[in-house]
Amino acid sequence: MELDFLGAAGEVGRSSVLLSTDQNIMFDCGLKIHNKSDPHLYPTPSPLPVDAVVVSHPHLDHVGYLPSVFEHGNPQVIATPPTKEIGELLLLDSAKIIIEEYGTLPYKRSSHKKAMESFRVQGYHQKTMLGDSALTLFDAGHIPGSAQVLVEYEGKKVLYSGDFKLSETRMHKAAEIVPDVDVLITESTYANRDHPNRQDLEVQLAQRAKEVISNGGHLLLPAFAVGRTQELISILKSQDPELPIWVDGMGVEASRIVAGYPSYIKDARHFRQSMESVNIVREPRDRSRVLKEPSVIVSTAGMLQGGPAMGYLLSLSEQSEIIFTGYCVEGTNGYNLLQNGYVEVDGEQVRPSIPIRYLDFSAHASRSELFEYVEKVNPGKVFCIHGDSANCTQFAEELKVEGFDAYAPKLAERITI
Ligand SMILES: [Zn+2]
Ligand SMILES: [Zn+2]
Repeated sequence: MELDFLGAAGEVGRSSVLLSTDQNIMFDCGLKIHNKSDPHLYPTPSPLPVDAVVVSHPHLDHVGYLPSVFEHGNPQVIATPPTKEIGELLLLDSAKIIIEEYGTLPYKRSSHKKAMESFRVQGYHQKTMLGDSALTLFDAGHIPGSAQVLVEYEGKKVLYSGDFKLSETRMHKAAEIVPDVDVLITESTYANRDHPNRQDLEVQLAQRAKEVISNGGHLLLPAFAVGRTQELISILKSQDPELPIWVDGMGVEASRIVAGYPSYIKDARHFRQSMESVNIVREPRDRSRVLKEPSVIVSTAGMLQGGPAMGYLLSLSEQSEIIFTGYCVEGTNGYNLLQNGYVEVDGEQVRPSIPIRYLDFSAHASRSELFEYVEKVNPGKVFCIHGDSANCTQFAEELKVEGFDAYAPKLAERITI
């Protein structure tokens, strides 16, 4: 068997790994489009024709470049039901963003259409045979429908973690453990640090919301459409069911889809009730209503790259506040606002005068969870990807000290396993 590391080797973004058994199985095919100054947008092309692509979850760094595979073939695409439905929504959106930012699509429109038509859904724990290779998905605890992928071939087990979280959150149970694999390919995003206690963060968030609202302002929460939007709604409504919340942007549609898959969320009843009690922005003119009364606004984009959140930021009163709850890639408006206090509007730097905060509600495993995961999975060999270069290398070095055969592969490296 062979592994080709086509992306996310020493970086976060453009995830793609090819596993060759009797079949060529691609794990993810993502993009890195959030930072315009970074020219490395896409994974390196697959050296072999692809028989199947497994999409671990529908974040753009894992699914955004999927149509490109259909330029040279007609693979089947395997994903959980929520990943398929949300993936289709996000692929349409990513095509729009790429055209806006870069002028043209890096694949034909017909490839986009073929990708949409080639999804085959597979639930957790169901086994599919691809030739003589058996493929099973396991809950990754990252976002609704996120999966770890296990391939078994000629008595060997290869596990691809995708993005995962090993502790419970408001929306999800912890990632499942698939023990004693021969090869593990794991994410390494936060190999260098632990996250703060989640219960404390939930309380802090609700306190900020109440305080800002009682001062007559708006609390703006820029959020990823999938995962974070639903989690923030759930958290706020658990902490205080009376909080006035508006939801805007693509998170509205993503939440509707998520609510349709109750078996993929921890407390579906609570989530449904929470969704019923928030206000939804259905058309642009609703936005002037949002700004009339104090409230919490949960809106895309999480890194303030596009989406209605940016419009709100520029219209908020002095009593308002903005809190980021997720990762902001360098070069994005979110990053610039957090680090340097400005956003870019039509090429000009604008410095909002409201307080800017960050609460670390990560959907990724923390440093201790990453080590615990590797220990429990107990792999014969482990490859560390999906983290910046220093994190991947350092994680592999530390795992070696713990007695594991660990390595941080380089981009486009082919390794026989
Ligand atoms: Zn993700
Ligand atoms: Zn990712």
